[in-house]
Amino acid sequence: MTTTRSAVVVGAGIGGLTAAVALRRRGWDVSVLERAASLEPVGAGIALAPNALRALEAVGAGDRVHGLASLQGAVGIRRPDGAWLVRGDTTMAGAGSTVLLHRAQLVSLLTDELPGAALRLGAEVTGVVAGGPTETATVTTRDHTWHADLVVAADGIDSPMRAVLFPDHPGPAYTGVTAWRFVSAEPAPVELAETWGRGAVVGLMPLADGRVYGYLTATAPPGTRSHDEAAELRRRFAGWHDPLDQLLGALEPGQVLHHDLRWLRTPLPRYDVGRVAFVGDAAHAMTPNLGQGGAQAIEDAVVLAATVDAAGPDRVEAALASYTDQRRDRTRRIARTSARVGAVTRWRSPVAVGLRDLGLRTVGRWAMPRAAKGLESILGWRPPA
Ligand SMILES: Cc1cc2nc3c(=O)[nH]c(=O)nc-3n(C[C@H](O)[C@H](O)[C@H](O)COP(=O)(O)OP(=O)(O)OC[C@H]3O[C@@H](n4cnc5c(N)ncnc54)[C@H](O)[C@@H]3O)c2cc1C
Repeated sequence: MTTTRSAVVVGAGIGGLTAAVALRRRGWDVSVLERAASLEPVGAGIALAPNALRALEAVGAGDRVHGLASLQGAVGIRRPDGAWLVRGDTTMAGAGSTVLLHRAQLVSLLTDELPGAALRLGAEVTGVVAGGPTETATVTTRDHTWHADLVVAADGIDSPMRAVLFPDHPGPAYTGVTAWRFVSAEPAPVELAETWGRGAVVGLMPLADGRVYGYLTATAPPGTRSHDEAAELRRRFAGWHDPLDQLLGALEPGQVLHHDLRWLRTPLPRYDVGRVAFVGDAAHAMTPNLGQGGAQAIEDAVVLAATVDAAGPDRVEAALASYTDQRRDRTRRIARTSARVGAVTRWRSPVAVGLRDLGLRTVGRWAMPRAAKGLESILGWRPPA
């Protein structure tokens, strides 16, 4: 007789929900505990790179993602006056296309794969005991204690689970860059591209319904905020190329999300403690410069489910050690590369920026296929069989 194995997932972000879907598909009994009272639609888009798409296909969500997303091959980097510094194609590494969709769509297509009772909203986890070879792991909420064969810590960049199980870890560090995000109310024609200025970046992405997902970053002291973020963006990015003026001009203050960009500059030594596995930003929050934070959370979830499921009931801890081995070097490398790209976009000196732009323009045509080749190890990832 086989007994159903149980998992408690802490956090209903992209990483936690993908882990829950992946484990359920393998027959696990899964509960997802989310401290927020509702999964509010977040006013932002997300680019899902080919590696993330393959992982979502592995958990049966690929068709629905393709149905909702806009497919992109072309990418590029522009100057604030609109001139192209580099133009290329994400498919040139042979890895496939990137898809763009609204975050809320991704969250809802993952929650649709779970039975209603699996998702507990308003359930803040306040305690965790990691368990061991013969003891289950335990998490505590205000009114319940949960015992499980596996606990997935998917509680984000400020992970309370990490603070308990890795008390000496210093936590996230500020990058020196603050970021705004919005989704336009109306459709507008844009090409997928980033524009690099002096210490500032604008990214525009066309969504499937014609609306535009925009993200804007600038160097600033941590905690810099404005009472009218839309007006602040119009001031900071005045004169940047079309259609930014129109997009920012149409923004309402409440339409803009504003967060400081942080990452785990000090990597976690392991992604497992006892029967607890860390996934996504809780394990390896990275800067968004490669658009890989969510993708790596999705990869983690798929690898974790395959590894613990294959190991058998008595070998959860050994399986989690293997999970760390499969995920740690790859995610550390991607986080470091992403931070290096971010550092170049922080340059403010006119001389340094001029040289950077000249370098991009002159070697761009030659370097683009090589850069794409360099990304092959990231984008070409395939889920375990
Ligand atoms: C500006 C920006 C742009 C980005 N763009 C991209 C992109 O284009 N592509 C991409 O792949 N990635 C992108 N990323 C990265 C991506 O957003 C993150 O890596 C990803 O959302 C992390 O998901 P997660 O599930 O690990 O964490 P989260 O989404 O943060 O989820 C954590 C969840 O845990 C819950 N929680 C926390 N504590 C508790 C508790 N004690 N009890 C219960 N629940 C708890 C939280 O409420 C939250 O719902 C971007 C990031 C930023 C900042």
